[in-house]
Amino acid sequence: MNLTVIGTGYVGLVTGTCLADMGNNVICVDINKEKVEQLKQGKVPIYEPNLEELFHKNIEGKRLHFTTDLKSAIKDSTVIFLALPTPQDEDGSADLSYVEAVSNDLGEIIDDYKIIINKSTVPVGTSDIVKNIISKKANFEFDVVSNPEFLREGFAVKDFMEPQRIIIGTSSIKAKEILARLYKPFIDVKRPIIFMDERSSELTKYAANTFLATKITFMNEIANLCEIIGADVDRVRMGMGSDNRIGNRFLYPGIGYGGSCFPKDVNALVKSSDEVNYDFKILKSVLEINKKQKKSLVPKVLKHYNNDLSNMRIAIWGLAFKPNTDDVREAPATDVINELLLRDVKICAYDPEAMPNIKKIYGDKIEFGENSYDILKDADCLLICTEWSEFVSPNFKKVKSLMKEPIIFDGRNLFELDTMRKNGFYYESVGRKIVSL
Ligand code: NAD
Repeated sequence: MNLTVIGTGYVGLVTGTCLADMGNNVICVDINKEKVEQLKQGKVPIYEPNLEELFHKNIEGKRLHFTTDLKSAIKDSTVIFLALPTPQDEDGSADLSYVEAVSNDLGEIIDDYKIIINKSTVPVGTSDIVKNIISKKANFEFDVVSNPEFLREGFAVKDFMEPQRIIIGTSSIKAKEILARLYKPFIDVKRPIIFMDERSSELTKYAANTFLATKITFMNEIANLCEIIGADVDRVRMGMGSDNRIGNRFLYPGIGYGGSCFPKDVNALVKSSDEVNYDFKILKSVLEINKKQKKSLVPKVLKHYNNDLSNMRIAIWGLAFKPNTDDVREAPATDVINELLLRDVKICAYDPEAMPNIKKIYGDKIEFGENSYDILKDADCLLICTEWSEFVSPNFKKVKSLMKEPIIFDGRNLFELDTMRKNGFYYESVGRKIVSL
């Protein structure tokens, strides 16, 4: 099939590349000229495992193309994906201006039957909004379909290629048939397409993301309680997770969730619920708790040093909001950095992929290292904000020899308490006992 993908960010670029890999001819459109130029020159602007390889394979196969020209891009495509930003607006709601602007443009240029598929995360009722905008200008038949994306950054290619399910919200039989054909290579008995109406599909995405954010937040609350009452959250997690009604995933406590999706999606669902006079209390608590949890390493550090961090040099491992991505949007590391900068601390940080993006925010306010060890030189303590696998089994002797004091505050529970005891570290983690020197 000839396909157009509008927006070449994490979702659009992965969608375009993976659909090209299934033999489709894909044109990706972006408004950002620099990005399109980069893509045309064969450079992938984001980090995602396996994306680069697949990208080059499909460029060479001449199935993947890039342009800034929307009109020429949709000319031969019946299927048009929207993978546009829906960032959080000032009042917490989802900003639909990107989706509305493109809908407006599409209304002016479509001259044939088109299926406009919304992959962006959008509030319930957006399919109707898009339909109304397009139909004001277009005299041609078209369908608007909700097809929310569930890929996870860091696993985006794998998740797109092997989705646990594909949700399609449409009342059009024609669109349903075409999409069933397009997605056939991605599904099997265990990975079904679930068809539904547009509104249920739009809400499914928010329900999934906000449920996961709630699960994380619940465990963070249990961890905070463990710290007070002297229980070990790892034991509690294992005990709970072995109940298959609960399951053992998403039960890992830490310094809160971040990223480009959970924070804005929780806010947006709270806002949409408020608009229909539904007081979504549990999600309001999730927002409040997570805000505090993201900074929670700092009070621990302050308490340990009697509120005096003057002249301190603090090392940070991990800046991305989670491992295997360079995305730092709403990353807990930024909350920690902001709090430390307020106290004039010297920060030296290392992340395998996210340093360029953090540099864009902080410039030379913080120092960066070449690897996880060189930032430890003369550091008073180490803070761990992201659980990259390269941090999991460090050479503890080397770590100790480089640091001024062997003190670690771990926001991701990377190490066993016994290991830290044996290696002679002061070690504070989340929801577990403190290992003292
Ligand atoms: P992104 O910011 O990485 O990419 C969006 C792209 O759209 C950018 O390249 C931008 O230049 C482009 N764009 C903006 N206006 C445009 C226009 N008028 N024409 C063409 N291109 C335009 O965003 P993303 O992370 O890919 O997310 C896109 C949507 O998918 C959001 O609604 C998000 O909530 C949702 N989503 C994201 C993820 C994720 O993990 N990132 C997962 C599932 C769903």
